[in-house]
Amino acid sequence: MAEQDFYKILGLERNASDQEIKAAYRNLAKKYHPDLYTNKSDAEKKEAEEKFKAINHAYSVLSDPQKKQIYDQYGSEDGPQFDPNSGFGGFSGGFGGFNMDDIFSSIFDNFGGGRSSSRRNGPADGADIEVELEITFEEAAFGCEKTIRIRREENCPDCNGTGAKNGTALKQCATCGGSGYVSRIQKTILGQMRTQGVCPDCKGKGKVVTENCKTCNGQGRVQQTREVKVVIPAGVDNGQHKVMRGEGHHGINGGRRGDLLVYLKVKPHKIFKRRNADIMVEIPISPVDAILGCTLTVPTLKGETTIKVPEGTQSGKILTVKGQGIKRLTGVGNGDLYVKLDVETPVSITREQKDLLNKLKVSFDKKQFPQKKKFDDLTGK
Ligand SMILES: [Zn+2]
Ligand SMILES: [Zn+2]
Repeated sequence: MAEQDFYKILGLERNASDQEIKAAYRNLAKKYHPDLYTNKSDAEKKEAEEKFKAINHAYSVLSDPQKKQIYDQYGSEDGPQFDPNSGFGGFSGGFGGFNMDDIFSSIFDNFGGGRSSSRRNGPADGADIEVELEITFEEAAFGCEKTIRIRREENCPDCNGTGAKNGTALKQCATCGGSGYVSRIQKTILGQMRTQGVCPDCKGKGKVVTENCKTCNGQGRVQQTREVKVVIPAGVDNGQHKVMRGEGHHGINGGRRGDLLVYLKVKPHKIFKRRNADIMVEIPISPVDAILGCTLTVPTLKGETTIKVPEGTQSGKILTVKGQGIKRLTGVGNGDLYVKLDVETPVSITREQKDLLNKLKVSFDKKQFPQKKKFDDLTGK
């Protein structure tokens, strides 16, 4: 979907309040509601439908605190972008959410309007399935293969989705007179509306079976448990999702299959923290090592390495080990490993140590502590 300014679509400023967003949405959704355009030309209907979609989409993002935050931060509902070839979205407009196209088709299925006549008895796309997959920090860093188990609706293999027992005929649905649609009054956020909905008895087919298929009880659909292999590339991060085309619920009457959306939840690591492809580890060192410098053994994702801590290192200093981070999803190299040094003061000392330190204390000169000197100068000491 092309990037759009959701605030502009709703005629709002960037700093609009939740109430203003809601009010703007209500006004615009009323104005462009497809029901008001039933007697207009096809071009006008189409335009209203597009506007209505855009308004709904904008509102679905701005009314959801999590999505709004991502949109406000990145200017995109997908958050930071990664290589589209990898099949991974960003933080996903749909984290804990849904596929907008499906939402819109369901809105329009319900509202009827210009589109329903062409869709009557026609194919309906299968819904998407969303699953959360928890993986370890290392699995995210190095990639992995997982098998997940899903329950999905498929066409009944015994009646080919018709619901009719082999050889039996279909008859016209009495509820809708064969049209597949029924009108009803519906209370919505926009007030009371006359909407045309899919017939509940024939599910829009206009026909019902005379003798039910035993396997699916005449539904034409069966729930199947399936195992799906998911290949997770190296470098994925928490909150990203993988779209597996066609692995969702099967469509009805030849509609396309839904997708399987696998949302990744990456468990935190014991010692590493992660930011994009970079990782960080905090290592405590003694004041003596900080003063004299030392060679430090540092854990990495694959084992360990050594780094030189220079003489006179300050607490909080961050040293960089190039290329020891996580593989970038874009495929260009690795991130870095940051080693943050925390100088740890001994929690207890012996009498001898105390004497030595007191001797050491008097030997120091002000110039050896430039930060302290600067602070003292600023505060007039
Ligand atoms: Zn019917
Ligand atoms: Zn069946």
